[in-house]
Amino acid sequence: MGKTTPVMSLSDAPMWQSIENGKLALMACKTCGTYRYPPSPICPKCLSMETEWKPIAGTGTILSWVVFHRKYFDDFPPPYNAVAVRLDEGPIIMTNLVGEEPEGSWIGKRVSLEYVDHDGRRQHAARIAE
Ligand SMILES: [Zn+2]
Repeated sequence: MGKTTPVMSLSDAPMWQSIENGKLALMACKTCGTYRYPPSPICPKCLSMETEWKPIAGTGTILSWVVFHRKYFDDFPPPYNAVAVRLDEGPIIMTNLVGEEPEGSWIGKRVSLEYVDHDGRRQHAARIAE
């Protein structure tokens, strides 16, 4: 068992820094504006190589979810959940749902991102939107 320490690279360091700053930013195409995650050197829509890092609104919809009842990492004692959220800007991110868990399926629920401390660093999390 180990901890879930992110491995940072030159291509995603701005994203990790934006999480530390409490406002997730993703790579976007400077030519057509398409957001992309994970970062990549070429826009999949228009093939431009011009990029910029832009903050996202922090809202999205749950595409899928799971609750783990087995321990995989020391810093995630079970039970804990993982949710796939399609951001309103398009990209899909994996995060954790915090706060009240909805009854039944979580799929299709609207969420907003917030930032929580986790084992000495900041991470994003999703909360069911009012
Ligand atoms: Zn583009």
